[in-house]
Amino acid sequence: MPRLREGFEAMVQSGGFVLGPVVEKFERDLAAYCGVAHAVGMSSGTDALLAALMAFGIGAGDEVITSPFTFFATVGSIARVGARPVFVDIDPTTFNLDAALVARAVTSRTKSIMPVHLFGQTADMTPIMDLARRRNIVVIEDAAQAIGAEDTARRAGSIGDVGCLSFYPSKNLSCMGDGGGCTTNDTDLAERLRVLRNHGQKPTYHHGMIGGNFRLDAFQAMVLGVKLPHLEGWTADRRRHAERYRQRLSRLSLTLPTESPGKRHVYNQFTVRVPGGRRDALREHLTQSGIGSQVYYPKPMHLQPCFAELGYKRGDFPVAEATAEQVVSLPIFPEMTADQQDEVIAALERFFA
Ligand SMILES: *Cc1c(COP(=O)(O)O)cnc(C)c1O
Repeated sequence: MPRLREGFEAMVQSGGFVLGPVVEKFERDLAAYCGVAHAVGMSSGTDALLAALMAFGIGAGDEVITSPFTFFATVGSIARVGARPVFVDIDPTTFNLDAALVARAVTSRTKSIMPVHLFGQTADMTPIMDLARRRNIVVIEDAAQAIGAEDTARRAGSIGDVGCLSFYPSKNLSCMGDGGGCTTNDTDLAERLRVLRNHGQKPTYHHGMIGGNFRLDAFQAMVLGVKLPHLEGWTADRRRHAERYRQRLSRLSLTLPTESPGKRHVYNQFTVRVPGGRRDALREHLTQSGIGSQVYYPKPMHLQPCFAELGYKRGDFPVAEATAEQVVSLPIFPEMTADQQDEVIAALERFFA
């Protein structure tokens, strides 16, 4: 807290509230943490995705392959630039894109693949990157839930052509409002992202591109800069809680999340599958026991009314559809005490007894 107070006072003294040196310092630290050459602060994870698509000139007539089982922003950003979201089904164990199905969905119009590292574990990036390189397709990682996740020693956001992060309060590294960022090793791309986030102007009042206001403000960057050094510790705590859940819940009729070989899962969520149509009853029982839970996500994107014109229907992605009916995310956060976790475990044991 003293560091937050000091940072706040210094920022007020400086009078610089949008972009500026505090944001630049955080961008350098973030790039180092993610293992990339450049990080570009953005106003949100959603705007990071939008700016990334714009920076590659993706738009009308282009197809972007992504998951139907994600937060709306992934797909919303594709539609907002005028491109067509092309869905493929997910892997039932990881909740992430099924790489074999991605390969089959590629057409001559495929401009990008947007894998989502859902719940804190990276998608199957090795085959996705191999395919993308062979077919000259850009990979935009939606790493909003996965800062610090690793895939064969590569950090989330450093594997594709660009990574998109969110610092929304529910994410593993969060600010006190909205914030986001793009990560990349491509110096030209980083420059385009910096120009795009400020209305496409460079120099000032000369607009070579049509951008937007996707700027990160100094207050959020200050908060993020104070918190970033703690992220590894918080990630270790999340992983410890996940391991304890796994040990203690292994005999219940739940499917627990797993860590795939070569990966480091950062457990933004600890999401279990409840078979037999009992998910909603379980949630009700947890609520009665004073335990919060959440369903991420109850309706897959191909069934959302706003995407009806894409022409998808129920039955197109059976794994995503079944998953949306079975999943529930249990409480997990770094500061969770053993007593708090025991309460959750006891409530689950009572339900299944
Ligand atoms: C949170 C999130 C976003 C959007 O981030 P915001 O900062 O809330 O705009 C995008 N994709 C996924 C998968 C997310 O979880």
